[in-house]
Amino acid sequence: MRSFLLSLLLVAGVLLQGRSQQFSGAVMVLHGGAGNILPSEFNPAQEATYREALTLALRTGYERLKAGASSVEAVQAAIHVLEDNPLFNAGKGSVFTHDGKNEMDAAIMDGSTLKAGAVADVSRIRNPIDGAIAVMQRSRHVMLVGPGAEAFAGKAGVTLVDPSYFFTEKRWQELQRALARDSLDALKGDSSSAVLPPVEHPELMFGTVGAVALDQQGHLAAGTSTGGITDKMNGRVGDSPIIGAGTYADDATCGISCTGWGEYFMRTVAAKTAADLIRFKGWTVGQAGHALIDSIIPALGGDGGMILLDARGNGCLVFDTPGMFRGWVSRDGKISVLMYR
Ligand code: ASP
Repeated sequence: MRSFLLSLLLVAGVLLQGRSQQFSGAVMVLHGGAGNILPSEFNPAQEATYREALTLALRTGYERLKAGASSVEAVQAAIHVLEDNPLFNAGKGSVFTHDGKNEMDAAIMDGSTLKAGAVADVSRIRNPIDGAIAVMQRSRHVMLVGPGAEAFAGKAGVTLVDPSYFFTEKRWQELQRALARDSLDALKGDSSSAVLPPVEHPELMFGTVGAVALDQQGHLAAGTSTGGITDKMNGRVGDSPIIGAGTYADDATCGISCTGWGEYFMRTVAAKTAADLIRFKGWTVGQAGHALIDSIIPALGGDGGMILLDARGNGCLVFDTPGMFRGWVSRDGKISVLMYR
């Protein structure tokens, strides 16, 4: 009872600060990454382009659902829109590794079957979410990485591209700034910059994308796609493609996609922990999301956000960073998009 009251208070307090939206009657929730998203960082034109992209992704997913598509198909359609838009850190627009490469991760989970698929460290799959779906639907495995994942995706009919397709000047400059800072830190004898959380380096974390959809059959699916974190070590895999960490879906509890400093979401098995709080404690998506984002992840020093949607259409978008690109669509097609607190 005490912990229930405590979490109610927590939810109420945080709602006042605008770090969470909770609603019912939703069929899709979406994020475009959490991070240093402040009104001072965007001019009105830039803000409008983000809002338009998020709206287009939600509308695309919604139209698929309305046409009777499965939740997996709707998630794929929404994520495609953001992967193809260089504003987001997924597909085209992915950030660079320390060695100047784009190594992307993606995952999908089907809440009706608990089947899942993921790819990690891929550099040639144009839409990494397609690679993840191919692994789920056409292989005996859950996760494939690197060249093996790319070869399999190519054979499964997924579009492959030259790695140069993913180059964007903006992300390249972000890497150059991070490398300059690395050498400055090295000069000062401080080798910690590569592992510092985004509280110190907020520019490193920005723009991962994820969606959860609820289809007309009442089934959930969740997907996440990312370039990871600027200046990450080659071969680093984050939480996004790890089933139960950055992505999870189960019709019996909810669908979840996370964004933030991935190592902390992996160490707390964030998505599955939230689902377990719903399953074993009877918590709502709001209570479970807040427990992770307000207590469990910050207790280790991490931050970020998560989106949750249950099979009755109850949704929660929660984050503890300055902002998170996010939105949802209700059953009647009404789209809501937000960036800041
Ligand atoms: N969670 C992602 C990762 O650690 C990054 C992000 O969400 O921005 O790879």
